[in-house]
Amino acid sequence: MIDMHSHCFPRITRAAAQAVDAERAPWLQVDEATGRGHIMLGDEPFRPVLPTLWDPARRLAEMDAQGIALQVVCATPVMFGYAWEAARAADWAARMNEEVLAYCGHAPDRFKALAQVPLQDTALACREADRAMRAGCIGVQIGNHVGARDLDDAGLVDFLTHCANNAIPVLVHPWDMMATKSEGRMKQWMLPWLVAMPAETQLGMLSLILSGALERIPSTLKICFAHGGGSFAWLLGRVDNAWKHRDIVRRDCPQLPSSYARRFHVDSAVFDPGALRLLLDVMGDERVMLGSDYPFPLGEQKIGALVHEAPFLDDAARARLLRGNAEAFFGLIRV
Ligand SMILES: [Zn+2]
Repeated sequence: MIDMHSHCFPRITRAAAQAVDAERAPWLQVDEATGRGHIMLGDEPFRPVLPTLWDPARRLAEMDAQGIALQVVCATPVMFGYAWEAARAADWAARMNEEVLAYCGHAPDRFKALAQVPLQDTALACREADRAMRAGCIGVQIGNHVGARDLDDAGLVDFLTHCANNAIPVLVHPWDMMATKSEGRMKQWMLPWLVAMPAETQLGMLSLILSGALERIPSTLKICFAHGGGSFAWLLGRVDNAWKHRDIVRRDCPQLPSSYARRFHVDSAVFDPGALRLLLDVMGDERVMLGSDYPFPLGEQKIGALVHEAPFLDDAARARLLRGNAEAFFGLIRV
């Protein structure tokens, strides 16, 4: 199996983070006595985390136990740094990419890295993507938005066009979720992850479709959205209906929205056989890839179980989801 959606977080010290941004740069606090850790923002705990997030040897042991041949590893989104001044964010991204490559270097045949880029500055983002690919990354991970700029923003479309023209696969990860700050409406029960995060992903996909950006971005772009594309597949019929009956939805989008669905890939992290079946109906079995969101608690704990146990998959389709589609997407040689 290839797991194409997993995260790491390097052992960034408090001093290293403070040198960049004392309040917002993330760092890792590890309690050596218990072995547990916290991602910190300044003095504030952001999230409790497990040692597999920063320790490649422990991760490898779990991969062996779960039968994972290869894991594609990328930054934890809190590392993106999109709110910083661009040059500082570019330096940070390069440092983080070297950290993630060093992490993957622990077992180069078992780990492959996705790069992060300073997406707030298109030229610097393209430059870091190119540099990171030369350094050994197999693609980039980007957030689904930069502040108020969604994926239809001209600068972000230029970045995606650069990726298309330079054969750089892109994983889009939701982050910085809507309605969680000033509105304060999602304070409890992990609602930002359960409600806003799938909506962020859907917003990213619809931004590309309804803006007409996919008419301008080369069709060679390999772009995958995390968490099965969030709310996208389930609500695509609603979007098509709106396109048919409201001219403001058609204004920038010349084709039926669902006709663009197969420009995208998605991962398989939907946790329910019925949801996976719908996803395959919408995306096709060549565009869904095993992705676990490891090692976070909202990820698939027994990696690949949903795909392995889905009764409606034949052997060929199952093999595509578990391995072949990721090999094709990332241009991997069979390992
Ligand atoms: Zn993730």
